[in-house]
Amino acid sequence: MKPEDLEKNSTEHEETSRRLFLKTIGLAVSAAVLGEASVFVQDAFTSSPLEEKIEKEYGFGVIGNTSKQNVQQLYKTLKLCEKYWETFRKEARHIWFIDLKSSFWSYLHEFIGAAGGASFGTIMLDSIEDETLIHETAHIYHNALGTDRGVAFSKKWWQLADMPYGSLVKKSSFITTEWKDNSVSLGKEGFMSPYGSTSLREDVATYQETLYVITRLIKQLNKDNKFVDYNNIYSLFFQSDPKKDSRYRKKISLLKEYGFIGPNDFKLIQPIFW
Ligand SMILES: [Zn+2]
Repeated sequence: MKPEDLEKNSTEHEETSRRLFLKTIGLAVSAAVLGEASVFVQDAFTSSPLEEKIEKEYGFGVIGNTSKQNVQQLYKTLKLCEKYWETFRKEARHIWFIDLKSSFWSYLHEFIGAAGGASFGTIMLDSIEDETLIHETAHIYHNALGTDRGVAFSKKWWQLADMPYGSLVKKSSFITTEWKDNSVSLGKEGFMSPYGSTSLREDVATYQETLYVITRLIKQLNKDNKFVDYNNIYSLFFQSDPKKDSRYRKKISLLKEYGFIGPNDFKLIQPIFW
């Protein structure tokens, strides 16, 4: 939808929404460009004590459908991400949360054409699993690297990928889950999943998401004093041994260099890739 189309039959509600939307995007864009530590919008929304706690702890606000259940679920998920992902709090400082189910936010979603639930420092609240949150946070953190650093990062990543994006997957659906050769939908060719091979952005986000799931698994095994069988772990995520494809190591090292992965988590996942 183009801005001109919106003007045609804008009701009062839409006008108010639009103004707030522009303000929202303005803040997000400036945060992405300036790399500010935190972004939140609170006007016109009242905050519950738990929302205030989230704002205080993480530096962002929760907007949209802030039902008690929704906010409690979000807080639980934030804690989970933080428990299993060293850099989460730093990365999450760039985001705010909205609910795709509310009419205003679905309107915004259509307006900006956000695909994966994250755009300009905004995360849609309709899917709040911890690995999804990590995936969306990766997009936001990627955007917030700033122009020079962001371009340098993407350029290096592009060279490391060494495979044209979109060339390995079936083109049938928007969210691609199948490889063109019909092989099982696990990682291969330096990608974490078929979807991750569709674009540079999704490549980065699916790395974060998969590495998070791997660290969560290893940390849970360690906590339960269970033997960590790295061969077994890799076979859950990859078609073949990722040690044999240096692209995994190179991409992970780049993620570490740019602060997507912390040093302890890096050490934890190293035996799978090195
Ligand atoms: Zn994505």
